[in-house]
Amino acid sequence: MARQRIINGDDESRKTSASSDEPPRKPPAPPAIEFRPDDEKHDDELRPQKLDDVVGQRKAVERLRIMLDAAKKRNEPLGHLLFDGPPGLGKTTFATVIPKELGVDFQIASAPALTAPKDVLPYLTNASFGSVLFLDEIHRLPPAVEEFLYPVMEDFRVDIALGEGMNARTINMPLKKFTVIGATTRSGLLTAPLRDRFVNRLHLDFYDDDDLAEIVDRNARKLRTEIESDASAEISKRSRGTPRKANNLLYWCRDYADSRAKGRISVDVAKLALEMIEVDHVGLDELDRKYLLTLINIFAGGPAGLTAIAHSMSCPSDTLEDEIEPFLLRVGFLQRTPRGRVVTSAALAHLGIAIPEAPSQGTLF
Ligand code: ADP
Repeated sequence: MARQRIINGDDESRKTSASSDEPPRKPPAPPAIEFRPDDEKHDDELRPQKLDDVVGQRKAVERLRIMLDAAKKRNEPLGHLLFDGPPGLGKTTFATVIPKELGVDFQIASAPALTAPKDVLPYLTNASFGSVLFLDEIHRLPPAVEEFLYPVMEDFRVDIALGEGMNARTINMPLKKFTVIGATTRSGLLTAPLRDRFVNRLHLDFYDDDDLAEIVDRNARKLRTEIESDASAEISKRSRGTPRKANNLLYWCRDYADSRAKGRISVDVAKLALEMIEVDHVGLDELDRKYLLTLINIFAGGPAGLTAIAHSMSCPSDTLEDEIEPFLLRVGFLQRTPRGRVVTSAALAHLGIAIPEAPSQGTLF
């Protein structure tokens, strides 16, 4: 029977607290309707339990099937595996499905909560042969913990230093062979020694609309909610390629339908529900528009540095970089240049803002 243990990380505080170099600021006024498309509270309820239930990400699924098959045939633990990609695309989902497929124990910890080697030690000593230890947000491991993990991942050995000075000595403790699965939204921040200790890396990309529509349909069935196929398509179009957002929009549409439309999500009901929370037809929400309008109105469209934009918006730069910018870049509303972020004419057209005319080239003579 798989075992699960959760260290309660500081996820929520991370998402709302400014980085340490930012002065304390007044929190922005709450929107008229409190809806957070990135809310993680429904994740566990709708998370696929088997690899067969995972929709899309075909390349990652295929490679994973080969890895799982090989590990099972050799009766060896799976090699350490790193998932990277923007939030809400399925890193935790894959990590939880793997031990179920292998029938092994599972432990989960949030890297920022592991402040010292002693915090990670119980996970290591508890790890049974072939089990999985999932480290979420692995780019946020403190350096001391990261270094402590090097011999663990390489030789399945813990080095414990005892005493100081002349009397100092190191005890080596052998561990059972197990698998570390890491997840990160910022693979670029991983140090080379840590990255190199992962035998396999799987990159998760945004989903296409058809895959998201399938996720919405399946989850509507799980929630016993009647939904028109056009309505699933409408929700998926506005979910920015991200299953977590699709799920959250589905929950909102279900609430709206239960309250105003006898529980049935038709395409018109979906449109009205999504208009009410100001998610537009390409999926931009309040915060995305605020980002673009800050760049346009305060920085004349850019180039502007991320920190300057974050200060102007009273929003942590991490949130902007992880949750706002990847999609704006993907739909071509934003460019990242060496001099800073620049808004594109496509974004201006989308927001209905006239594109400023290029200054006329005055003649010199
Ligand atoms: P991440 O760890 O990358 O932030 P999660 O794995 O927590 O994202 O995914 C968020 C939610 O999105 C999950 O609870 C699950 O319901 C849904 N989801 C993610 N990926 C898939 C997928 N490939 N197929 C079906 N649902 C998915």
